[in-house]
Amino acid sequence: MDEIRNAIRLVPDFPKQGILFKDITPLLQNEKIGKLIIKEFADRLKGKRIDAIAGIESRGFLFGYALALEMGLPFIPIRKSGKLPWKTVGVDYALEYGTARIEMHQDAVTSGMHVMVHDDLLATGGTAAAAAKLIQGQGGVVSCFSFVVELSFLKGRDALTQYSGDIISLVND
Ligand code: AMP
Repeated sequence: MDEIRNAIRLVPDFPKQGILFKDITPLLQNEKIGKLIIKEFADRLKGKRIDAIAGIESRGFLFGYALALEMGLPFIPIRKSGKLPWKTVGVDYALEYGTARIEMHQDAVTSGMHVMVHDDLLATGGTAAAAAKLIQGQGGVVSCFSFVVELSFLKGRDALTQYSGDIISLVND
């Protein structure tokens, strides 16, 4: 996993002072690393019941959709408020300052569907927890979570275990 970790660009003070931003765009420029990431996820997910992959806007779409294709699964885009064109269901969640809302199409998850939530990075877990709540609200089951990077010092896992304790991350920092 060092190959993946070493390819992630660290950008200090983005988008604001004090944040060390983990920029995954160099991973997209390297076909070998991209394929390694998809293979690693697919290997670790073998044997789990997953009926669909839900990717969180926008960086969760990148490896999320590629993985869905690799695993032969439907992909569900979870987007910020007002972006999806058809009928939506949404969840509001707290940010450091104020609130945000994520949405998906109302027919994306059907009752009893086992859905994996995917994003590029797990920080506090607020976004992934909101996605999980959205899926459960439609009668879906959160089978697991997957992230390329986990910032373990922020303890984002604690916000997710009520939905699923099965949390996969490739790079742990
Ligand atoms: P959170 O809800 O706190 O777990 O934040 C997760 C979301 O914010 C993900 O969609 C990440 O892409 C983004 N994010 C949070 N912190 C960082 C960081 N240090 N570097 C890159 N992306 C981040």
